[in-house]
Amino acid sequence: MIRELDTDVLILGAGGAGLTAALHAADASPRLRVAVVVKGLLGRAGCTRMVQGGYNAVLTEPDSLEAHLLDTLAGGGWINDQELVWTLVTEAPGRVLELESRYGCLFDRTPAGRIHQKPFAGQSHDRTIHKGDLTGIEIMNRLTEQVLARPGIAALEECRAVELLLDDAGRAAGALLLDMRAGTFVVARARATLLAMGGGPTMYRVIACSADKSADGIALAYRAGAPLRDMEMVQFHPTGLVIPGSLMTGALLEEGLRGAGGHLRNGLGERFMARYDAARMERSTRDLVSRASFTEVAEGRGTPNGGVWIDVSHLGAETVERNFRGMVKRCRDFGRDLARGPVEVGPTAHFLMGGVVIDSACRTAIEGLFAAGEDTGGVHGANRLGGNGVAESTVFGGLAGDAVAAFVLGRPSPRAPAAAWRSTVEALATPLGRPPGPALYDLLGALRDVMWDGAGLVRDGDSLGGALAEIDRIEAALDTVGVPGDPSLNTAWQDWLSLRNQVLAARLIARSALERRESRGAHFRRDFPAPAPGPPVTVRVRRGGEGPAVTTEPVAFTRASPPATAAPAAVEVGD
Ligand SMILES: Cc1cc2nc3c(=O)[nH]c(=O)nc-3n(C[C@H](O)[C@H](O)[C@H](O)COP(=O)(O)OP(=O)(O)OC[C@H]3O[C@@H](n4cnc5c(N)ncnc54)[C@H](O)[C@@H]3O)c2cc1C
Repeated sequence: MIRELDTDVLILGAGGAGLTAALHAADASPRLRVAVVVKGLLGRAGCTRMVQGGYNAVLTEPDSLEAHLLDTLAGGGWINDQELVWTLVTEAPGRVLELESRYGCLFDRTPAGRIHQKPFAGQSHDRTIHKGDLTGIEIMNRLTEQVLARPGIAALEECRAVELLLDDAGRAAGALLLDMRAGTFVVARARATLLAMGGGPTMYRVIACSADKSADGIALAYRAGAPLRDMEMVQFHPTGLVIPGSLMTGALLEEGLRGAGGHLRNGLGERFMARYDAARMERSTRDLVSRASFTEVAEGRGTPNGGVWIDVSHLGAETVERNFRGMVKRCRDFGRDLARGPVEVGPTAHFLMGGVVIDSACRTAIEGLFAAGEDTGGVHGANRLGGNGVAESTVFGGLAGDAVAAFVLGRPSPRAPAAAWRSTVEALATPLGRPPGPALYDLLGALRDVMWDGAGLVRDGDSLGGALAEIDRIEAALDTVGVPGDPSLNTAWQDWLSLRNQVLAARLIARSALERRESRGAHFRRDFPAPAPGPPVTVRVRRGGEGPAVTTEPVAFTRASPPATAAPAAVEVGD
């Protein structure tokens, strides 16, 4: 059975970007019908809820918008879209005030009653607004309450977008959804559609991000023909927990531990950062520290479980317990005592800097299709500064909500030809009842391994070529996988649908990484270990006749030019 739904605004994803967009669209006109689609439960799914460290916004002197711009560009290796960065830094202060005064968030205060801003790595001023170390929960709880209070917003929970719908003229016409509980498809027609599905590097072996994400927004945009940028830029965080046999492997231990003077040691007990960055040691940049520990393990100097040790016990157990309460508890849950001894950690895939190309009003190249948050590329360039992620999602989410509300005025509902979505429904249902072919979870494991080993922290032409060959094999095998059971609440079928998108996003990452013949920010190539001479470029990818069409474009320095001697991304970054 296929259900049908008509709405004015269709928002795919309900993290910081999706919820802020829904509120802005609904408040622009109470007559608008806004539908928010979320793979999990409203307010509970995605990464915004996981935000610990905080939110970057310029509130008081001596900080300035220009300083925030320059920090973000230096952090991003100067390949950011400078107009998007300027939009981020100029809109963020207003969005923080809106979060407090309109939506009810309450951030930590100084004794004088002002919003407290803490120092965060890579930033020239104390700029990071927070609610203890649970900033994301505060933001998501308040946004969710606001969404639930607006009758114009309908939430479709445990429902996933599986394909975008286009009309005969190639304009966005809504999306094909799958109600995961009932196992039925929904044709959702909309006058404007927003991608806010939060990217997500879940195609890697070890991850810090929410496991419900499978780069669906990236895959849907690509298949619909929208251009993407800088997909090779995947951020790895150096201190993910290593807990053999536990799905919590990869969960973050926050960067403040290194900032506070924590030591990293290899399996031989050496403070190995002396070999990679003797001046800054553990306070070196996130990409560099991640690569250093990866190299230690690869060269046989890892811990018994293939990580390195982080040790803060010399700071004193009482200090650690007081200043890192959440981290101590997280470790204790797994039988580790962070306050009194070393804990095994390793790099973990954290964030996709690349994504859909947008302008400052969140428009994509497809009329009627908008995108915001981690689904998009350009804001962070080659490396995201800690605190800029949640700012990006709520700033651009709000702008997208304003933009879609204005866009739909007087616009008729475009109609997607039924033949197109009927054939998609058929194709997506094929694994149901098919005889079991290759084991689905072996294919997922193979993808995660090959991305980690071939397109991970350290890559080269051969490893990327090998990864692409393995991706071909996995993709072909995926077409023959059968899943048992009926469509309702069928986890294996959901995982098949997710893997299809993870494989596609993996291909875009590897193809783009092959194209960027240099090292910059999070992208490090053994065969091109330095930044390329000459002006930096962005790598663009879009659907071509025979797979991804990859090109490069010079970066437009519309707001600032890199200093002649700029070392790309040579700054520290936080959570
Ligand atoms: C552990 C951790 C800590 C972090 N700490 C910080 C920090 O301190 N400061 C900071 O600035 N940034 C931080 N970040 C990054 C930050 O979380 C992201 O930049 C930001 O939250 C992304 O917001 P978003 O709305 O784009 O995506 P998300 O918040 O991830 O939301 C994505 C939404 O899309 C839904 N979805 C996915 N696929 C589908 C589909 N097919 N159909 C329907 N819905 C779908 C998901 O269920 C979810 O609701 C952290 C990230 C992690 C993982």
